[in-house]
Amino acid sequence: MTPSKDAAILVLNAGSSSVKFALFAAGTLQPLCRGGIEGIGSRARFGGAVGAQAHLFEGGLPEDSTHEAATHWLLDRIRRADGIALCAAGHRIVHGGPDFSAPVVIDEAVMTALEALIPLAPAHQPHNLAAIRAVRSAWPDLPQVACFDTAFHRTMPRLAQIFAIPHELTDQGLVRYGFHGLSYQHVADVLPDIAGERAKGRVIVAHLGHGASLCALHEGRSVATTMGFTALDGLMMGMRCGAIDAGLVLHLIEQRGMAPSEVSEILNRRSGLLGVSGLSNDARTLLASDDPRAAEALALFAYRVVREAGSMMAAMGGLDAFVFTAGIGERSAQIRSAIAEGLAWTGLRLDAARNAAHDTRISADDSTIPVYVISADEELPIARAVIARRLSA
Ligand code: ADP
Repeated sequence: MTPSKDAAILVLNAGSSSVKFALFAAGTLQPLCRGGIEGIGSRARFGGAVGAQAHLFEGGLPEDSTHEAATHWLLDRIRRADGIALCAAGHRIVHGGPDFSAPVVIDEAVMTALEALIPLAPAHQPHNLAAIRAVRSAWPDLPQVACFDTAFHRTMPRLAQIFAIPHELTDQGLVRYGFHGLSYQHVADVLPDIAGERAKGRVIVAHLGHGASLCALHEGRSVATTMGFTALDGLMMGMRCGAIDAGLVLHLIEQRGMAPSEVSEILNRRSGLLGVSGLSNDARTLLASDDPRAAEALALFAYRVVREAGSMMAAMGGLDAFVFTAGIGERSAQIRSAIAEGLAWTGLRLDAARNAAHDTRISADDSTIPVYVISADEELPIARAVIARRLSA
């Protein structure tokens, strides 16, 4: 079916303390309006919207809004948008488990399967599913599509997915799933227009935001990634430790007598940039600080990216292009420069002026490997998937 001119796709991206939304014209995939609520659980606030309907979202959100209340507030405002008739909704779902390797139209059986995956992502999956229910109660007949953060990595070879643990546990789904898949999907979608033939080669994408991970892309498909069974693995992040010795976790529990919940709090919320600096999880604050611990935290962040990038290169047998995306990747010339210095042995070199200007191509002309900055967009690949599912339905 061909969507009518004013039909719009609603995309919802419900995080652990935020709900982002975007409306796209179904015919052209042009963004009509996007924005989001942040700080849910502490001080909920609307973080601003862009687009013709942005005025609808000004004021009126209670600071103590729960996830459910914030989502209802958002859907209520969207319902009032002039000249927009929703034709479908798409959701970012953090975990698709071993079985969901592509977007899927949501029905009762899919909901049951997604509920069964809650133990794999307890901080995110319940909010994702609540958003689906909220849309269903606001627009009972609206088709909804689930798009998974894990699905993009299901193309990884088996050796990149399994851990060296007893095979019975592997068979029970204790494998490397990887995350940030929608962000990587977006980069894979737009890279051919930016990098030409190189986009088909061996590409490292560095998604460096509050959460951070690397993906090794070959022919536009994931062949390795740094996050694992959970989003705690891999790179150092804002508050998360990334990969550490599992023996250290056992030590905290067995020798220091810590409860698993205390260890979880340390590794998920008191580590990373925040833990090492003792100051902040925000890269901007650390870059502006002259405290040596801030400098050490940023140095460790870059060092961990460089080490893991070496691992991605080994998994692909080389490197043809490098892409930075997400908050730090898009906006910190200084951190990009520190990472490039660590990778100088590959012949990768940045052009200082292009890097400072956040150009799309920031590598020097004589760099053996082109380096790009691409804006993260997790909503557009969801809208694309909704169109693809609706047209094939
Ligand atoms: P999320 O993972 O929540 O989507 P973002 O992709 O927005 O987060 O990234 C947030 C991170 O980006 C924070 O660590 C923030 O400090 C960092 N960041 C944003 N702007 C800048 C900047 N100008 N310079 C350095 N870091 C920045």
